[in-house]
Amino acid sequence: MPNAVTGDAARRFEEACEHAEISPDTRERLTRAKSSLEVAVPLRRDDGTLEVFSGYRVRFDDTRGPAKGGIRFQPDVDLEEVTTLAFWMTFKTALLDLPFGGGKGGVAVDPKQLSASELERLSRAYIAAIADVIGPETDVPAPDVATDAMVMGWMAHEFATIRRGHQPAALTGKPIALGGIPGRSSATSDGAFHVLEELRESVLGDLDEPRVAIQGFGNAGAQLATLLADGGYRVVAVSDSSAAVHDPEGLDVAALRAHKDEAGSLEEPPSGEAFDPAELLALDVDVLAPSALEGAVHGDNAGDVRARVVLEVANGPVTADADAILDEQGVEVVPDILVNAGGVTVSWFEWMQNRQGGRWTAGTVAERLEERMLTETRAVVEIARERELKLRSAAYVHALERLTAAMDATGTVALFSGR
Ligand code: GLU
Repeated sequence: MPNAVTGDAARRFEEACEHAEISPDTRERLTRAKSSLEVAVPLRRDDGTLEVFSGYRVRFDDTRGPAKGGIRFQPDVDLEEVTTLAFWMTFKTALLDLPFGGGKGGVAVDPKQLSASELERLSRAYIAAIADVIGPETDVPAPDVATDAMVMGWMAHEFATIRRGHQPAALTGKPIALGGIPGRSSATSDGAFHVLEELRESVLGDLDEPRVAIQGFGNAGAQLATLLADGGYRVVAVSDSSAAVHDPEGLDVAALRAHKDEAGSLEEPPSGEAFDPAELLALDVDVLAPSALEGAVHGDNAGDVRARVVLEVANGPVTADADAILDEQGVEVVPDILVNAGGVTVSWFEWMQNRQGGRWTAGTVAERLEERMLTETRAVVEIARERELKLRSAAYVHALERLTAAMDATGTVALFSGR
């Protein structure tokens, strides 16, 4: 079934259902996406030829509010992946108690092969192709892998042209000049940092300067490296898709970020020892933060992990097989739907700001983000303790109970159960 939840996502959902108090209706509804759209995205290349790419937008569920979730530009994106990501967004927004459902979109393209003007035309063509299904009250896209504020700016501009009027709340993660909000581009890493700090004592004890390895040096990974280095951790290794760098004494994160911005990769780093990125997971560190793509820690390499804590900054970086192995090794996995929820939380603030027609300050954003992250982190820890669950299952259970409350309130369950 093309819109069904499959693989690890289905497995974790089934497991969470065992521990949550939810109606059979909820269980049934959450096995499939509400709607899936597959579109052709035509791109006029700079040389005049036309190339057509496959694009997707999945609305997994919108019971709690408009669907919400990013758009990724990635060569191997397909409907199954987008469906899984939209499913995770449904849980993430419920977990943070945001008035949204879950959605996701993507184009199967390698953005590194496009010129800047091709990227702009592709962004506009994609939004034109999905324009009928998005809007402030239906489905609100945002950035994800390989998309950023600039891409959102083109998309918001195109959407306003199509709708013949401004609808800034239809997309989040926009440039500030087009109705974006301060702090959105650092929100994912800020949120991840709050979660780790909140859990620090329970998972790392009174360890001085915990050593961290970060896989992925894109938006979230690089900004998290700065926060950790400034916040009493020692960032000893980072990697991107082509290179990795290690320094047991602690890397000069600022210099590395400047190098990455300039050179486009971590190759030939200004300091530290270059090594094979595949070996990063096996380093002797206290915290491992996979911040790139899905499936980085899997059944064949989970046994090599030596960290005490795996902080899932990416979406789905640890497979279900790996979860079981890490659990046996006593590694604490802090789940993605909590760790990386700062991004969508600040997207919520942006959406509110746009609907109010106002402007939020950086201070208000930071304060309210911290409040959301800490409140829900504590709630997850409490559920894990009370029901003797791992943090991932506790996060799913917490989200599921909010989802079932909304789904049951839509009527049907109350009618048949006589509640
Ligand atoms: N792409 C981000 C995520 O996976 C943010 C989504 C959003 O802001 O809507 O959570």
